[in-house]
Order: sequence, then C-alpha cells, then structure tokens
Amino acid sequence: MYPVNPLTPNIYIFEILLNIAQHLPFASLAAFSLLPQPAPEVPPLELRRRIHEHLKQYIPSCDIPEFFNILEETGAAITGSFVRRLLLEGNEGDRAFKSGVRDLNLVVERFRQEPITNAMIKYDYDQVQESVGRHYKNVAYSFTQFIKLDEDMDFDSVRLTVAEKGILSVILSAPTTADMTFITANDIISFFPRMMLANECMVVDNAGDIDSIVANLKEQGQRVLDSNRHWKTPCGSFCPMRWRKTFGDEGMVRFRWHARRNVHSPQDLSNSQSWNWRSSAGSIDDDEDAIDRHDIMYRDQLKWRIWNRCENPNCSNAIHAAQRAEFLQP
Ligand SMILES: [Zn+2]
Repeated sequence: MYPVNPLTPNIYIFEILLNIAQHLPFASLAAFSLLPQPAPEVPPLELRRRIHEHLKQYIPSCDIPEFFNILEETGAAITGSFVRRLLLEGNEGDRAFKSGVRDLNLVVERFRQEPITNAMIKYDYDQVQESVGRHYKNVAYSFTQFIKLDEDMDFDSVRLTVAEKGILSVILSAPTTADMTFITANDIISFFPRMMLANECMVVDNAGDIDSIVANLKEQGQRVLDSNRHWKTPCGSFCPMRWRKTFGDEGMVRFRWHARRNVHSPQDLSNSQSWNWRSSAGSIDDDEDAIDRHDIMYRDQLKWRIWNRCENPNCSNAIHAAQRAEFLQP
C-alpha cells in the first residue's frame, strides 16, 4: 500500500500498477524499472505471474515453485520458443504465436541433470533419448526429449540439452540469434534484446541447411534475417561482426526476477537494488569485490560473434571492412 500523500485518502498505487502491468508488453513493463517507486517493484512480480502462467502447460501448477528450486540448484536455464513467447506477450509477436508452441527447452551442465530428469518423470513425462543436433555436437553431451499427452490429447514436449561444459556454450551455438535469450531462476538474459523484442533474428555464419528451423521460426512470426543491409543507424553493440563476450558484454541485457524470492509485500522488495535492468553482468573494471564469481556470466566466460561481416551501410565496422578489402588480394 503506497499512499500518494499522507493528507489525502490512501490510493493503492502499487495495486493499480500491478493491474495495469498485466496488459503491457514486456518492453513497457521493463520500463517501469526506470520510474519512481513503487513502479520498479512491479515488473518482477508480473513476470513471476506470466512465467507461472506459461509454465502451467508443462508443469503442474503446484510443482512450479519446486521446479524453480531445481533450476536454481542445477544452474539450468529455459530457452527457445517458450522464452520468446513469454517476452513477446502483448505485442505483435504474441499474435503470431497463437498458432501454438508446444515445447519447453531446458539446458543444464553435465553431471547436474539428474534432478531435472527425476522431476520430469515425476510430472508423468516419458523419456526419449535422442541424438544431439548437429549445431550442438561440440558443446552438448546429450539431448533428451520428455513427452506427455495432455488433457486435450496434444503432446507436450520438454527438451533437455546437457552441456558438456557451461550452458552458455550451448545457448551461443544456436543456429539463429532467436535462441540467444534465456531464463534462469534469477534472471532473464538476452544477447540480442533489440532483435528479440522486434521478433527478428539472424541466421549465424556457417549454420548450414536450416530450412526446417527457419520455417518453424517464420510460423512463429519471426522475421529471419540473412542481412542487416536495411538497418538505418549504426549497429553499436549489436554489430554482427563484433566480437562479443559473455562477461562484461555491452550488448546484453539482464532483468532480475528471482523466481524463488519469497515476496510477501512490496516493502519486502524495496530493500533490493537488483531489480532494475542492467546493461551487463559487470565488467573487469568493476570493483573486484562486487563481482559475483558464482554468476553464470563469470563462470562461463566465452567470446563469440555471429558473422564475419556487417552489411549495414551506417556501421563503421562495415565501412572499415570494405576499405580494408580493397587492399587484400582477390
Ligand atoms: Zn555493424
């Protein structure tokens, strides 16, 4: 309860904002973090509600808190169409998703998968071991599909990829940037947030024949790009030829939502500074003491880029690359 002014009758600002938040797309909801109190306290609660609502399709409602305990305990993440659908709710992409997406993709490190497998069996899924997809051959140890017939006689499918090392190596091996957004028990993280919220993605270099993946993405309303020639402004942090890194990356955004945090009232939240958008997970220039060495971005330090070219005529990387090319032998 947040009275506007002690001299006027109480107006339940927090409750009103919480109500409005239910009707907002994710980008507008996230912008609440930039407004005065109590607005920044609203997005994590609304996201919890949405995530629970979407997860009910796969996991019994009463088991969802336990499921997030397992995600936290195992350091696993949710990725794929489930995440896109959640974050595009309420905007143009949401309508495209009405065709129905019926799988939940999980990624976990090797030797930590057992609690997830046990939970899926407990939730009445049948387990089918499958071969690892070719894009993940070098980074994934195994791929398991869990299948269950739901009340509408549709198949629900949960896919578990077990990473040979860290889960980020699997997430960043995806053939398109569409899957480079993920949810952990504490964070929502996107390496290409601008494209993700525009319902766009890029096919990475050397992805090979991915016609069926592209067709699937298009069915979900995604615009799948093989060129950024149409970009009107400099690429900045999102330049496809720029080397990116998981720790201290400028292009990534991270939204803290804390699935397990036991929130009883808005006041419980007001002690934390960690609810706002952060542009990155920290950088090497940060105070050494402030670096969380257990943080996923610190543990899985990787460097990657999606293209060895940029075709945006407004991007200095593309201009310099074209100038350099003049001096190279054909
Ligand atoms: Zn560029």
